[in-house]
Amino acid sequence: MNEIYLYNRQLNKESDYNVWMGFPGPKSFALSSLGFMWLFKSLDEEPNIRVERICSDTKITEINSKDVNAICFSFSFDMDFISIFSILDKYNIPLKSKDREENYPLIFAGGPVVTANPEPYKDFFDFIIIGDGDKCNLEVIKLCRENREKSKKELLDILAAYEGVYVPNVTKKVNKCHYDLSECVYTPIISEESFFPNTFIIEVSRGCFNRCGFCVASYLNLPVRFVDYETIISNIDLGLKYTNKIALLGALISAHPRFNDICSYIYNRIQNGENIEMSVSSLRADAITPKVIKTLSV
Ligand code: SF4
Repeated sequence: MNEIYLYNRQLNKESDYNVWMGFPGPKSFALSSLGFMWLFKSLDEEPNIRVERICSDTKITEINSKDVNAICFSFSFDMDFISIFSILDKYNIPLKSKDREENYPLIFAGGPVVTANPEPYKDFFDFIIIGDGDKCNLEVIKLCRENREKSKKELLDILAAYEGVYVPNVTKKVNKCHYDLSECVYTPIISEESFFPNTFIIEVSRGCFNRCGFCVASYLNLPVRFVDYETIISNIDLGLKYTNKIALLGALISAHPRFNDICSYIYNRIQNGENIEMSVSSLRADAITPKVIKTLSV
């Protein structure tokens, strides 16, 4: 397996709660999905939880489907529901939550599609994470584990009171979970099998001030938040220990107050002889400066 773990993975740990992280696409896409991989790292670091990635092209699983306690799906694009249903069907899990009795795992989802509007999917998921999933998902799964002896109904009643969790037909009012960006989310596992091979992705901002009417990346991620410059630089340094491909991620990266300084930092390292390839998730034409062009084109 061509995967470099940037954290200390505990192998053969004693776990009493098994989670499948479902990705509605091939493994290569999962490896390039920052939010999905970050949650995988968070769960993998938990001492009592065993986690496995299940993608649409997964053939053999390490955890037997009968031993899975919970399956959380990443739901980023509308058409993902087709793959989500296919994965459930593949493991003989009923699609509708009302048809899943106690012997079936808890099935839930998070991501932009269900955050924007969970209602079309309320019959299929036991609960839905609304808002930022990076910490909320972990806390919710820990809560599920702590209450694993309870019935599904008892557990869902507990979850319904948790910020950012929507339990269909139980939750009265959902508060979207969101966090400051004091920590930087980055690629925890670098792989040449990723859709972006051997690339270290760093999230530098979340949300966008411009609020273009069609753009959910702006509205869903309000308020606009930036990772501070020092944190970004220290994480670029971390990534460059493992790869020369650095990608900056954010809805409107150029709005970062230190965007030019970040480009300068990388540009100076390139000028000093390092072979660094930098890319950005998107760039507005009005944000392009000579320094940015030079850094991206080297
Ligand atoms: S990220 Fe781009 S499309 Fe979205 S609101 Fe900002 S400027 Fe508009």
